[in-house]
Amino acid sequence: MPTKDPKEALLVLLELTRKLAERTSLEESLQAITHAAQKLVAADHASVRLLDSTRTELLSGARTGSGADKRPMTFRPGEGFIGLCVSERRPFHVDDVSNDSRFVPQAGQTFRIGSLMCEPMWSQGEVVGVLSVTSPETHAFDEDAQLLLRLLANCSSPPVERARLERLATFDDLTMAMSHRYLLPRISEEIESATRTGSEISILLMDLDHFKLVNDEHGHAVGDAVLRAFADRVRRLVRKVDVLVRRGGEEFVLVMPRTGSTQALATGKRIQESLEREKIATTKLFLRQTVSIGVATWDGREAPESLEARADHAMYEAKHLGRNRVVVSTRESTTDLGPASAR
Ligand code: GH3
Ligand code: MG
Ligand code: MG
Repeated sequence: MPTKDPKEALLVLLELTRKLAERTSLEESLQAITHAAQKLVAADHASVRLLDSTRTELLSGARTGSGADKRPMTFRPGEGFIGLCVSERRPFHVDDVSNDSRFVPQAGQTFRIGSLMCEPMWSQGEVVGVLSVTSPETHAFDEDAQLLLRLLANCSSPPVERARLERLATFDDLTMAMSHRYLLPRISEEIESATRTGSEISILLMDLDHFKLVNDEHGHAVGDAVLRAFADRVRRLVRKVDVLVRRGGEEFVLVMPRTGSTQALATGKRIQESLEREKIATTKLFLRQTVSIGVATWDGREAPESLEARADHAMYEAKHLGRNRVVVSTRESTTDLGPASAR
């Protein structure tokens, strides 16, 4: 049943608008929106999904309620009600999904859906995302609930769109790793902080092995899925403070604050061994994908370019030695390398 007490609804909305006015991360904003949606219309489950920059795929957003611990599913525009909401640019309110052939049951869906509502989120006349709620009951949402959800979508859209654009400029769409232009500035920042606090900093340079073959044998879309799954795997294996950057193509850098070479080597090994042990799962196939990793620890003086160059050099050494391994850079091995920018 939807919230019937108008005061309660007002308080939920007030709390949300206050939260969205704070300088919170995109994730926190999305989480606040799904919480509010769940409360406002007494839904079992609420989710927000945002469109990627090409508007061809709905990026995974936040979820609240049943099954929220599972990874959100992605929908393409036109697919399922969430996708239809984007392609037809209109809301949907379905009282009984079992009677509707447009409902796409997802493999791995862990919660029951009887009825649902989806509302487009608008910015400058375009749909930029979808707010949706579901209930295991049929006929769970009435007209008031639909209006409340619309109000929620409308007041959440501007701050979410601002955060989404900021995010798209900073992060690589495919893998959600930071984009390469932030690599050196990010290392600089960490070096500054390491200098202040007297702590260490290390980086891992990771290059997927024979990745060209994945594209050649299975096609570019599978290649893309592998890159995405690799980035997810790394994030799962490292700390929250470690920053994953996509340097380009199938090369990634992990920037690890407060990390010495022993710990960095252990992290590199954890990633390399995980890939060796556990195949990468794409929607179509399971693939064995190994990685070569170069580790470098800041020597206390060098420029960010030099740290990157040493990690690069170690990574090439790992390739040279037969791939699927981790090599640690020593200060001496790079003395004749010169800055990365000159190579
Ligand atoms: P090595 O073990 O020596 O690193 O071999 P490799 O095949 O991984 O290296 P190479 O540099 O020859 O090939 C990299 C490939 O990565 C070629 C390119 O098509 C592919 N690639 C780069 N960016 C993307 C991307 O965004 N998506 C997909 N699917 N492929 C990409
Ligand atoms: Mg490469
Ligand atoms: Mg490679």
